[in-house]
Amino acid sequence: MADIIRLLPDHVANQIAAGEVVQRPASVVKELLENSVDAGADRIVLVVKDAGRTLVQVTDNGKGMSPGDARLCFERHATSKIRVADDLGQVRTKGFRGEALASIAAVAQVELKTREHDQDLGTRVLIEGSRVRAQDPIAGPAGTTIAVRSLFFNVPARRQFLKSDGVELKHVLDEFHRVALAHPDVAFQFVHNDHEEFNLPAASTTGLRQRIVGLFGRKYDERLVPVEEATDVVRVAGFVGKPEFAKRSRGEQYFFVNHRFIRSSYLEHAVRKAYDELVARENYPSWFIYLDIDPAQIDINIHPTKTEIKFRDDRAVYAIVHAAVRRALGRFNITPSLDFEPEPAILASIDTTPKPIQAWRPQDLGAFTAPPRPSAAGWQQLFQMGMASPVEEGPTTMVMPARTPPVRDPDMEPGDRPVFQLHGTYILTQLRGGLMVVDQHRAHERILYERNLKLLEQGAGMSQTELFPRHVELNAADLALVQDVLPELRSMGFDLELFGGRTVQVNGMPAEAADEDPAKLLEQLLDQLKNEKSGLRNERHHALARSMATSMAIRAGRILSKQEMNDLIDRLFACEMPYHSPGGRPTLVTFGLEELDERFER
Ligand code: ADP
Ligand code: MG
Repeated sequence: MADIIRLLPDHVANQIAAGEVVQRPASVVKELLENSVDAGADRIVLVVKDAGRTLVQVTDNGKGMSPGDARLCFERHATSKIRVADDLGQVRTKGFRGEALASIAAVAQVELKTREHDQDLGTRVLIEGSRVRAQDPIAGPAGTTIAVRSLFFNVPARRQFLKSDGVELKHVLDEFHRVALAHPDVAFQFVHNDHEEFNLPAASTTGLRQRIVGLFGRKYDERLVPVEEATDVVRVAGFVGKPEFAKRSRGEQYFFVNHRFIRSSYLEHAVRKAYDELVARENYPSWFIYLDIDPAQIDINIHPTKTEIKFRDDRAVYAIVHAAVRRALGRFNITPSLDFEPEPAILASIDTTPKPIQAWRPQDLGAFTAPPRPSAAGWQQLFQMGMASPVEEGPTTMVMPARTPPVRDPDMEPGDRPVFQLHGTYILTQLRGGLMVVDQHRAHERILYERNLKLLEQGAGMSQTELFPRHVELNAADLALVQDVLPELRSMGFDLELFGGRTVQVNGMPAEAADEDPAKLLEQLLDQLKNEKSGLRNERHHALARSMATSMAIRAGRILSKQEMNDLIDRLFACEMPYHSPGGRPTLVTFGLEELDERFER
């Protein structure tokens, strides 16, 4: 019988190998852009036609290639970037397999024009389906232009596999975004079908914010919170999105390791976790996180598209990334960004409680016509700096008698602002720039949650002793659950004792829940606890604090006095993260005067 195994001809082998590297036009975009960056270019122009089907062309001002290299670069495993296998661990450049150009040349018509800076003449190479058609000397600018035409012209199956132009363009944009974000110090231009999509000037490394705004729009400027953490293991830098801008669709989530875009569900988890109580589960926050790490500590040589990574010390990296994001969000959230307006200028008519005449302050004179309105820039600034914090500033933390003129003009006067309860559910109050609506249940949840967490850490909750201990009957499962969390419940002020059989004796209740029915509270708490996913050990406190907060928090329908509403608002803003309930839902919404003016068609 004749041999049936034959060696594949080179160009067929190349086509098959190419399949791994070149899946669609976007793969070409990625490889060409990365080569230009590797060549030291600081200006790169990407021109695409028909979502890359017809043309992908990249021009750079990098170091260029000699005539010999211009021919060699299309050979498989031709690379100037590693010499020996040992180098692999030290690779900092993007490509290192020497496969990209060979793969692209196997499935397209490629024209390379290149000139080294110290040479008068450059080289032009035409290659088509791995076959060199021409190589001539040419005159032209220093640097390199590679034009890739008619992708998959010789692989009809692949060509048919491509999606609509819209989809392919989306992939191209994704790759462009990644490379442009990884290298803010390089200027990029992107032209699609003769239309300029982007023209991004080179920003210094500190200009990352500028690059993000250049790519995703001006609105991103106010959404970003800087992240910065330097440790021996890894340096973390970049930005994370403010929680309230999290979106329903997976938004901009980028990790870069040593300026290389990578995917990592592991790191994603670390960041997601930091947003835990800030963003509802179905929403996606955005982030642009850059890790700098010794290349010996990572392994990126696991897949031809090279977007996955292994860290030698992955636990440490996880913990550092998590802490860095957590700290960034905490720092930003710690001070309220809301500017309370103490003078009842707008809601006065709504507030029906009798009010003492306010002492006037000189600065009020101007306010007769219209309340002061911060400019848009002003709001943004407030948001970024955080408002003068009621916690830090001595005088504002004291409740001031209404008749005493304040020593200084506080942005927020605790305990005495006009408030109005709407449908027993929402609290309305005035801000300098508009109106704030607080969800009373969620606000209280947040307050109790943070209080519970503190108590759990300190292990010393105050409980209001019941005059007559109450007995509550539980089923076996609930009893086991109570036994399991008994010490923690006591820390949070829920003083329980196992009475024998399935009976629990309630000796004391958390002070804040003193008028709740103990049996009902316990039942709600156990329900909540069962809903919590039984998580890691260190999540236990969060789960307990959250469950307890949810079962104790005042419910919708509960009528509050003016004093109670003011207290609630004060305590909410004394919280570390006032804007979201422990479940990640908003505790409050605001309406700017501009927004109201607009509704009134002013
Ligand atoms: P790799 O990037 O893995 O080395 P490629 O196939 O992408 O493999 O490129 C092969 C070689 O061609 C590179 O190592 C580099 O020497 C050269 N090269 C590719 N693109 C450029 C460019 N834009 N400017 C200068 N040299 C380039
Ligand atoms: Mg390459």
